[in-house]
Amino acid sequence: MDLIKIGEFIANCRKKKKITQEQLAEKLYITDRAVSKWERGLSLPDADKMLDLCNILDINVNELLNGEKIDMKDYKKKTDELLVELANQEELKNKKIIIDMYVLCFISIVFYIGITLLAAYTLGEGILFGIIVAISTIILVLVALYAFKLEIETGYYECKNCHHRYVPDSYWKTTFSPHLNTTRYLKCPKCNRRSWSKKVMKKNDKVESGIVMRNMK
Ligand SMILES: [Zn+2]
Repeated sequence: MDLIKIGEFIANCRKKKKITQEQLAEKLYITDRAVSKWERGLSLPDADKMLDLCNILDINVNELLNGEKIDMKDYKKKTDELLVELANQEELKNKKIIIDMYVLCFISIVFYIGITLLAAYTLGEGILFGIIVAISTIILVLVALYAFKLEIETGYYECKNCHHRYVPDSYWKTTFSPHLNTTRYLKCPKCNRRSWSKKVMKKNDKVESGIVMRNMK
């Protein structure tokens, strides 16, 4: 997504409507600095402001995110391209979250071992040592539960039987399901069968393969 192009497009549409940044900001209940940031390509409008913005500027969301007016004959192609790009961005974002999760787990475990060794070395085996180990164990468990939350909420699990991709609805059930790394033994909500379901980072590949196939023709 080309933020600069989108920004220039917003600015042009706004000027065509003969409204200032301040007036546009006022209509959207946001600051004029936010509008200025969009128009300079520094940020994208939040999803909850996009529809209102498009209504005011007389464009649609597809045009907004492409940064140009779209001819009806190009419409399907542009929409597909946009969906692919959004899916790829989601994939990238999800990958980053999973990497953060691993880093967090690694740091906590190193921290846990470090604290325990340090306490054992300096305090010996007294009550204080017990308390410190207990507290750091609780912290480690909390971090693990948080890491599971990140894992469960990021991306989707793919059912091995029907290839349906879904986000599990129960945090606790999923947390305590058998798992190997991020592959979990889960019951698929579509076919109701249990399988070792792989973690995937985007909802589907179909859009992408559709475009690839069309381009090959
Ligand atoms: Zn299934």
